[in-house]
Amino acid sequence: MSQAKRRRVIAGNWKMYKTQADTRAFFSAFLPLVRGARACDIVVAPPFTSIPAAVEASRDSGVAIGGQDVFWEKEGAFTGEISPPMLVEAGCRYVIIGHSERRQFFGETEQTVAKKTKAALVAGLTPIVCVGELLEHREAGRTEEVCERQFLGGPGALTPEEFSRILVAYEPVWAIGTGKTATPEIAAAAHRFLRKCAERKFSAEQARAVRILYGGSVKPDNIQGLMAQEELDGALVGGASLDAKSFASIVNGCEAAQ
Ligand code: PEP
Repeated sequence: MSQAKRRRVIAGNWKMYKTQADTRAFFSAFLPLVRGARACDIVVAPPFTSIPAAVEASRDSGVAIGGQDVFWEKEGAFTGEISPPMLVEAGCRYVIIGHSERRQFFGETEQTVAKKTKAALVAGLTPIVCVGELLEHREAGRTEEVCERQFLGGPGALTPEEFSRILVAYEPVWAIGTGKTATPEIAAAAHRFLRKCAERKFSAEQARAVRILYGGSVKPDNIQGLMAQEELDGALVGGASLDAKSFASIVNGCEAAQ
């Protein structure tokens, strides 16, 4: 890479798993295993109710905590929603936006992704904005078309300054929770394509700078192969982030690939 190296991020998305007690137990097992990690940023996104326990248990460790979703208004009559300032007050620094499960089960669209991302940035959060195609899209040769549409409607709807403060996650839906990882080459090709979209929409410099994480069945035994691709700036990890040992070996695998 000729440009300044992008710092890698390993982010765990716990989805609807782990009580507060589970969260405390996770961190007491996990933190000693990643004490030596210096080269990668580490993020954990617990369910909302476990965020305070995660913030407390990870204090002074360098591990950042994130939300798994957020609403775009600061407050109001929006039953069940959580606002960006609420996440900040709870101690979050990151928030995942546009995860395929939000798109699939909760009606997330490109427009809501853009609104949530802008609101999260106003509050000072770092959004991790997810894009990725379904299996039927890939099989029909529509991967680029779908990724471009999701990119342009979400991250591409930001100003250049806003775009400089987000992370993108490429998560092919067919690889999420299925045990089917994209090969490092397939992932790298999609990342290159997303960087091309960023270049067309913003600039070559911004396209080089944006960090793009790969997500989809990342495990301890495939992290090093994935991280051998310099296009991949880290990983968004679901299932394997629930176990302290396996998430730590993903972090340490990323460190080793530096
Ligand atoms: C995810 O939920 O973002 C994810 C990538 O899940 P998994 O690692 O379990 O495929």
